[in-house]
Amino acid sequence: MTIRTDTPAHSLDDIRAAVTRGREAGRAWAALGARERRGALLLWKRALARRTEEFAEVIAAETGKPVHDARAEVLLTLVHLDWAARNARRVLGRRRVPSGLLSVHQRALVAYRPLGVIGVIGPWNYPLYTPMGSIGYALAAGNAVVFKPSELTPGVGVLLAESFAEAVPGHADLLTTVTGPGSTGAALAGAEGPSGVDKIAFTGSPGTARKVAAACAATLTPLLAECGGKDAVLVAADADLDAAADAIVWGAMSNAGQTCAGVERVYAVASVHEDLCARIVSRAQALPHGEAYGPLTLPSQLDVVERHVKQALVDGGRAVLGGPDSLRDRVLGPVVLAGVPEDSPAVTEETFGPVVVVNPVPDMDTAVERANASAYSLGAAVFTASRAKGLALAERLHSGAVSVNSVLGFAAIPSLPFGGAGDSGYGRIHGEEGLRSFAAPRSVTVRRFAPAVDLTSFATPREKVARAVELGRRLHARF
Ligand code: NAD
Repeated sequence: MTIRTDTPAHSLDDIRAAVTRGREAGRAWAALGARERRGALLLWKRALARRTEEFAEVIAAETGKPVHDARAEVLLTLVHLDWAARNARRVLGRRRVPSGLLSVHQRALVAYRPLGVIGVIGPWNYPLYTPMGSIGYALAAGNAVVFKPSELTPGVGVLLAESFAEAVPGHADLLTTVTGPGSTGAALAGAEGPSGVDKIAFTGSPGTARKVAAACAATLTPLLAECGGKDAVLVAADADLDAAADAIVWGAMSNAGQTCAGVERVYAVASVHEDLCARIVSRAQALPHGEAYGPLTLPSQLDVVERHVKQALVDGGRAVLGGPDSLRDRVLGPVVLAGVPEDSPAVTEETFGPVVVVNPVPDMDTAVERANASAYSLGAAVFTASRAKGLALAERLHSGAVSVNSVLGFAAIPSLPFGGAGDSGYGRIHGEEGLRSFAAPRSVTVRRFAPAVDLTSFATPREKVARAVELGRRLHARF
């Protein structure tokens, strides 16, 4: 598989033209109705499923990840597209809501309309799965999409739009991929003047998200921002340490640690800390070099990984597996650090490499406190033998998702919303919230009969209005 190098750097004019075509195509798409859109999206899903190998090869070639990981990425994408297609009508269709005592004469209804054209800006680490968390849901909600993939993975973006045009003939302009560097993303977000999009769904680093937010501010374009993470795993004294170690190594090292909700920190109660470290080390040591995960996709990220590891040691942390020497190969060796001070960059900043910090804590309260102390707030996990305790701990964590006795459990469950807070961004993709992120609620009332006291008419005598208001006040004062 050769990597595409022929993708152009699209300009603001190209983007505006794509948005204009998308808006036109979106009208026809919205007019199709939810049932037909579902049929069309499922056709696309089946086509993608049949082309798994082709997608996996492009993903692997552009990111450097092993092709088996890329296949799993395609599968996750299919699961989400399937859910979005099948649930859009239920979630976004018109529904009746209670109108309340004061408005008993009204029928109250809520429905959702598509926003129009969604600009999706994607990262390179999961170049299909991550942007499709916005693209699939936005299309299912009746919108058109202009997609700007990462400059490191343009081929996935181009193939995605091609596959849509082939699978859903007659709606080709509904999904356009524009390629180019950060400046193309900036133009899509409106940094060079309005691009015409009705919302931006951005996935990438918090630094870029701030620039995108500033560009969106000029036109009051709403923004959904999925940024990085510094996810923590909390390990209780009663946890199955083998299961925890297995999940931690996978969560920290798979995709070479380049996962927004990957495991970067572990807080284990002191009584099991050493034992857990030993089990993590033996598993990480046994990973087949160059097969379990690939090289860093963005070579310059090595500087960040190296700085974090070196500073952790300077700050008093211990390398229980690997160290700066592990970072010499093209494929980095796994690094496990312990006892790293909480203000060291390996604990505070996103590392995005196969590095995990395993720190001891006196108790689970401290573990929760430390997990919540991060500027990031995306995912977290808890390992404990007691499900009730796991759930109770989950409720105290600030992150957008928590897995009990697994890591990243939420990623493969499309009905679960995904997103974070703080430096991890805002808004939600996936699930019902993910569909609603790309739709505007429209509230409708239908007057059923004349009310006993019409509060919206000058014809109602003032004393009658006053009596009704007083009655209402008394009711609210009592109940
Ligand atoms: P990045 O911020 O460098 O780039 C993301 C995208 O933004 C790219 O397409 C890039 O071309 C574009 N871009 C760059 N400058 C821009 C600008 N000024 N205006 C608009 N767009 C611009 O991020 P990355 O390195 O591609 O991805 C890695 C980051 O993404 C990590 O922080 C990771 O944690 C995060 N991520 C988050 C999630 C999530 O769902 N929360 C998922 C995957 C990755």
